[in-house]
Amino acid sequence: MKQFLLAGAALWAVFAAPALAADIAPAKIAEHVKVLASDAFEGRGPATEGETKTVAYIIEHYKDAGLKPGGDLVDGQRAWTQDVPLARFENKGPVAISVTSGGKTQSWTQGEEVALRAAQTGATRVTIKDAPIVFVGYGVSAPERNWDDFKGVDLKGKIALVLVNDPDFETGKGDFGGKAMTYYGRWTYKFEEAARQGAVGFLVIHETAPASYGWATVKNSNTNTIFDIIRDKPSEAHALLEGWIQRDKTVELFKAAGLDFEALKKQAQTREFKPVELKGATFSTDYEVDVQKIVSKNVVGLVAGAKRPNETIIYSSHWDHLGVGLPDAKGDKIYNGAVDNADGIATMIEIGRAFAKGPQPDRSVVFLAVTAEEKGLLGSEYYAANPLYPLATTVADINMDALSPTGPAKDFTSSGDAASTLQDALIAVGKAKGRYYAPDPRPEAGSFFRSDHFPFAKRGVPAISFGSGRDLVNGGKAAGDAFAKVYTADRYHQPADEFDSTWNLEGMAQDGQLMLELGRQLANSTTWPEWKAGSEFKLTRDATAAERK
Ligand SMILES: [Zn+2]
Repeated sequence: MKQFLLAGAALWAVFAAPALAADIAPAKIAEHVKVLASDAFEGRGPATEGETKTVAYIIEHYKDAGLKPGGDLVDGQRAWTQDVPLARFENKGPVAISVTSGGKTQSWTQGEEVALRAAQTGATRVTIKDAPIVFVGYGVSAPERNWDDFKGVDLKGKIALVLVNDPDFETGKGDFGGKAMTYYGRWTYKFEEAARQGAVGFLVIHETAPASYGWATVKNSNTNTIFDIIRDKPSEAHALLEGWIQRDKTVELFKAAGLDFEALKKQAQTREFKPVELKGATFSTDYEVDVQKIVSKNVVGLVAGAKRPNETIIYSSHWDHLGVGLPDAKGDKIYNGAVDNADGIATMIEIGRAFAKGPQPDRSVVFLAVTAEEKGLLGSEYYAANPLYPLATTVADINMDALSPTGPAKDFTSSGDAASTLQDALIAVGKAKGRYYAPDPRPEAGSFFRSDHFPFAKRGVPAISFGSGRDLVNGGKAAGDAFAKVYTADRYHQPADEFDSTWNLEGMAQDGQLMLELGRQLANSTTWPEWKAGSEFKLTRDATAAERK
């Protein structure tokens, strides 16, 4: 028996040898997570006492790890933080909505037929009277795919109705990644495009399959408080009216205008589609908006490059979680966010320690702990809109969010699937460590657009969000899937996402080691990772190619 055990242990050692974490200590990660996810940190809500403690903790441990301050320039010196001014918008009082179609006018109820978001243009009152309604298909303008749903239509003073997901979601094949979602399928894109097209309002037509969630989710998140970064010209990013409309109501409006919704949707799946005005249909609404300003912080550590300090590799991870909220069945109100995302911050601090220890990299390496991810990627959006280091010479962003405390895994993954040579490099580093890449199993859910690397990708910077594997060294896929299932059901975004002293953090240390080695490779080379042909981010990156000579 003893002999058998020894043989087993030896075999395991041989198998695991290439994956042993050399620089990153699991005990250090545990130390950080235990504190950051403790009740004293109150769930790390932005602009709360929990933020003050969290920011102080990260600064203290960046210092301890040997990092230098890399934040805002104050009197010619870098501070540890970047101020992130955020705007908070809330609908105030009743929301009046009326729709005329087929000669009849009816009142609609906020949250029932439509879910109207609090305006994010800075307007304290939204008043729209008898605005014509135009169907604009999938609302996509994609020059690199030779696709334009707008065809020059004038949307001034009009409400546009737009389909969710991208034009080839239903057919499963075409120019938009088939079933997988491109950025053109995300509702955030639809709203940004609406603002560019000059519409007074944009309503996304809710259909459960292409949205990947039901009306309840749409209603809850869109009629609630909304946060945004503070923008110089908010109306360039937001139309006055943004919201969602139920599919059934849309079908009725089409019918009253003598149109067939399904037939027009089919047309919208082709390049030839042209916008269609719903004859005799108009939309009116009137409501007040409460606008407030808060200031939160990104925490920024730096290891300056020895040879090319102006070229930057960024590691990012969000420090915020949901704060204090509704109690669970046990009466616990603190949303500790241990896995999401104290563990990402902990791992990033330890990657920082390894870089600071040396040897000094050729390029600079930045450790960006961002705020307000849970409010819609706002800390990273603010950074990318106001970069401390120019994006044109930012080599890559490597993001980590909710790494798994399940012990070593044979595989690893990334959120969503966006083809870049950065992803290839990650896969190669993993392979050299005896691990394999498992692609995102549900690319149609659009996970690529839901993590802090995305504001970088959107602006052309090669970016990836690393994910822990599920094929565990101990117990294989069955054990990894079982953990994920229980975590999603009982802990994800719930007060029970707490630190557990029985966790095996050896796997998280290996994940950190993998990201460390990818970063080291990039930091000591002269190459620039790229988006591959056909990527929706490639044109934007290529536009600044001259700055990367
Ligand atoms: Zn997270």
